[in-house]
Amino acid sequence: MKRENPANPDNIPAISRLTSRHCASLLALVAVSGAIGCTHTTPVAESQVENSVELRQESVASSLPSQSVPAPSFNASRAMQYVKELVAYGPRPLGSENHKKVERYILTHLQGDRVEQDDFEITAREGRFPVHNIVAKFPGSREGIIVIASHYDTNWPLRRSAYIGANDGASSSGLLLELANQLRGKRRDGYNVWLLWDDAEESMRLPWVDAESLYGVRHLAQKWQEDGTIKKIKAFILEDMIGDSDLNIDRDTSSTSWLADLVYEAATRVGYQSHFFARQLEVKDDHRPFLERAVPAVDLIDFNYGYNNVFWHTTQDTIDKLSPKSLAIVGTVTLETVKLLDLR
Ligand SMILES: [Zn+2]
Repeated sequence: MKRENPANPDNIPAISRLTSRHCASLLALVAVSGAIGCTHTTPVAESQVENSVELRQESVASSLPSQSVPAPSFNASRAMQYVKELVAYGPRPLGSENHKKVERYILTHLQGDRVEQDDFEITAREGRFPVHNIVAKFPGSREGIIVIASHYDTNWPLRRSAYIGANDGASSSGLLLELANQLRGKRRDGYNVWLLWDDAEESMRLPWVDAESLYGVRHLAQKWQEDGTIKKIKAFILEDMIGDSDLNIDRDTSSTSWLADLVYEAATRVGYQSHFFARQLEVKDDHRPFLERAVPAVDLIDFNYGYNNVFWHTTQDTIDKLSPKSLAIVGTVTLETVKLLDLR
């Protein structure tokens, strides 16, 4: 993923700083020409953020049943075990043996489930690569689909380093495997829930290049548009970098606002709201191709991984920075959000 409109360009990691400098020079150009081209915006003051979230909160809460509901169960230690096993394969860039092993690992955990595999090839400057999206489908009684997604690849440009993406890719992929355990074997009294392990999220070049990233979801969104599936998707919930032991999920300003409000309502109902939405920023991530097709979508991401996000896309993105508690918080809030969507 890539962060837009950095609030403090002098204090962010090298990768983002490069992007920021590029954008700054773009801004200088458009200032001369009078055109508006770059997406840099002024960050919202924190007090304004809190007020606006609170106001939105009231309107969402008033449209839902007021009775308190028991928090859904989520087995955090089992989810953490999945994350450990995923990173134990080592770096899993496109085209690698480790990538194939991780695909098999995910599929092995979905034996007996209804699985759609979306396999195709991409041609990048770096060569041709197979890409594999994996979708596990859990049926519900209601017409309509809720998609919960996570990418599982690691960065191709970092393939020769010890970069294993424990938080960036593995944490959310392990969380989805545990969500599958929660959904399996029950007839849902609500929407169909589809879990999506998507591939080739990471950019083939760093800093991030839009046209050379998000390959998996761009392909799937197009496929689902062509076969009519996209019209049935009621919500697309993306999980990314959600394992940080110091968990602060950001509010992505490009996400659908009513759905982000519903996530906050869910977090409040299960008592985890202090981990959500203290900060606003815009993130380009796997939810984009769905937002562009008018699917309500939200990105649950903690884009402050270590002070000033220093562990992001580095070999320091390792399992010791993560906590099962964070997986429990995001897993529980996700299940509660699904419950609230079912009630709408
Ligand atoms: Zn990444």
